Amino acid sequence: MSEAEGRASPERQVQMLTDHNDLDCIKKRITILGSTGSIGRQALNVAQTLGCSVMALAAHSNSELMEQQIRQYKPSLAVMFDKKAADDLRVRVGDLSVKIMSGMDGLCEAAAAQTDLVLNSVVGMVGLRPTITAMEAGHHVALANKESLVAGGEVVMKTAARCGVDILPVDSEHSAIFQCIQGAPPNRAIKRLILTASGGPFFGKTAEELRTTTPREALNHPNWSMGAKITIDSATMMNKGLELIEAHWLFYISPENIDIVIHRESIVHSLVEYQDNSVIAQLGVPDMRIPIQYAITWPLRVKSEVKQLNLIEHSLSFYPPDYKTFVCMDACKTAIKRGGLSPAAVNAANEVAVALFLDEKIGFTDIGRLVIESLEYDIPVANGSLEQISQTDTLVREKTLYSAKKTKR
Ligand code: NDP
Ligand code: MG
Repeated sequence: MSEAEGRASPERQVQMLTDHNDLDCIKKRITILGSTGSIGRQALNVAQTLGCSVMALAAHSNSELMEQQIRQYKPSLAVMFDKKAADDLRVRVGDLSVKIMSGMDGLCEAAAAQTDLVLNSVVGMVGLRPTITAMEAGHHVALANKESLVAGGEVVMKTAARCGVDILPVDSEHSAIFQCIQGAPPNRAIKRLILTASGGPFFGKTAEELRTTTPREALNHPNWSMGAKITIDSATMMNKGLELIEAHWLFYISPENIDIVIHRESIVHSLVEYQDNSVIAQLGVPDMRIPIQYAITWPLRVKSEVKQLNLIEHSLSFYPPDYKTFVCMDACKTAIKRGGLSPAAVNAANEVAVALFLDEKIGFTDIGRLVIESLEYDIPVANGSLEQISQTDTLVREKTLYSAKKTKR
């Protein structure tokens, strides 16, 4: 068939792929959950550069920024999880026809609304139900919300398979691995995944030195500017534990074959070792717009506004992690090896502990202690339904709060 008959010749296809920005498939319709956050704002920026249309937006309570985003990106639905914030938003945008909703119903309606891609960058396990809802509505999901995969990995992956939708990783390490396995052989032949970790602000410190750490010190990440919760997770290294579980589910690799390596410069974003001991890595400057864009344009690549990597400017160093001081990594490994609802338990304990630490109610090292404690709770080992995951989450939150109350600062 000739090009004139409607299909591009192979030469023309190559030309089109070189000149990606002409391709209509880049101009997707996109919904962003968590649009007022660090990832959400960068995702809107990338989506605009790519010429995507924004269908729905959702956030928790920042109605002021949501108003700005509505005026700029013109979604037909906007959700504030918090009811008061939704009421405030209705007044703010009373001159527009945008529909405003609130609560989990609103979040799920946004997830299911007509679109080509739902980018979930809500923080916390509250993102699980919208992830499932989006997939059940037949939408591909670009996933930044790692807690939903940690708490409900099995349900999420099974739903994706049943609904025939893709999960595109946004987390930089998982995007790196996803990029490294493009073109993998039919037998996959993956021997090991190597997750890199910056080590956070407390690399090289002992547990004793960390006892008096303040939220302000812990919020000072050396390489990435992110939301408060993930910044604390990076300081405790819980983030890497969560990412190990995330990698297990996304790539079906057993936890024993996922290693963690400290890489202070955050240039190598993760690596895949194949059976022949060849190792493929993905590199780039630390800028989340690269993984966000790849999740939107996959399987294509287009030019981006991110700075080019100049290897001459960087020396790359690698160290073993300190599992003794940063106890959350092993707690997560134990949880995923145990399976069932254990990952949901460590995640719930961590969410509560991080909030308490930010509120100066517990000390920095109490976070790890509370996460480890959650492994001792009586948690079913069976794989959980959405309801069971939610019950476990509630139970562990209560127990963690109770245990934290007994903690003296
Ligand atoms: P932020 O704290 O900056 O943003 C969180 C977003 O979620 C905000 O828009 C917030 O709304 C919204 N939100 C919180 N609770 C709810 C809720 N119940 N319903 C609807 N929206 C809600 O976090 P980040 O952007 O840093 O992180 C988001 C997710 O992405 C996390 O899971 C994190 O682990 C992951 N991630 C982040 C990276 C980063 O570089 N930031 C890198 C890799 C992964 P509001 O502003 O109104 O409170
Ligand atoms: Mg990451």
